Amino acid sequence: MRLISSSGNPDLAMVHVAEDEDGRRLEFVDSIQPPRTRGEKWVVIVSTMFGCPVGCQMCDAGGDFQGKVDTEGMLWQVRQAVKERFDNGSPRTDMFKVQFARMGEPALNEEVLDALVGLRNEYPETSVYASVSTVGPVVSRAFIDRLKGVRDEHYANGRFQLQFSIHSTDLDVRSRLCPIRTLSFEEMAGVGAGFREPGDKRVTLNFCLIEGIPIDPEVVRRHFDPEHFLIKLTPLNPTDRARSAGLRTLIEKDREEAAQSYIDAFREQGFDVLLSIGEYEENRIGSNCGQYLGRIAAR
Ligand code: SF4
Repeated sequence: MRLISSSGNPDLAMVHVAEDEDGRRLEFVDSIQPPRTRGEKWVVIVSTMFGCPVGCQMCDAGGDFQGKVDTEGMLWQVRQAVKERFDNGSPRTDMFKVQFARMGEPALNEEVLDALVGLRNEYPETSVYASVSTVGPVVSRAFIDRLKGVRDEHYANGRFQLQFSIHSTDLDVRSRLCPIRTLSFEEMAGVGAGFREPGDKRVTLNFCLIEGIPIDPEVVRRHFDPEHFLIKLTPLNPTDRARSAGLRTLIEKDREEAAQSYIDAFREQGFDVLLSIGEYEENRIGSNCGQYLGRIAAR
């Protein structure tokens, strides 16, 4: 694997593109989350696949799937990001978070489990946190069972975050947005609740807020227990695929209040709600989603 470009704002987020010996490309990101400094929290977001076979309507990673990234390829992305940002190859930060959430559906790549173990072994002196974000394909039940074993051994006591990306409570709409057979809400609720141990973070249910896409907090409550799940609301990132599919974000700069009715409705159902907007500059940088590779391919 070799790094072929890095761009962005080193004080906020950088998107890196790498290519393997077969010419397959992936992107990975390193970023901070203001107001926290890099010394307080530093995030690396790695790709688990070259492209993605799922092809979600809102994500530019889909459409051009060229295979899975192996364990070494995932660890290489982390190592490379550390090398770019810290002189001695050791991340000096109170919270070093690695998210398996860039290009690729992690639950379709078993080697993510080995990469999670490798990550802990590679940075034994550092406070490593990890997260896996999945749309919940049917096969993810077995993956999450094994993930739980890795979490118990290497990321106990709140160092691990599991996220299900749901986006709509209308099943037909959901399968249009994420065109793969997924776990039912009931199955997801069972898998998620079973994943948690005392002291663990709650499992996140992510909804990106899109104009006209139905989200019913009562339906969510019918299946998911607020004791085990929290709600994360995010904007729709300005990807090419979202634009082609005619999807428009409900919240954007100076229009964040559009999320308030959802926040209130989820809170009424007993959920904790996190509105995660990030920095709008990241849209320009392309560090929010699978935007960047498409952008450089179009040049
Ligand atoms: S959102 Fe995730 S699962 Fe869907 S196409 Fe993008 S990378 Fe794949």
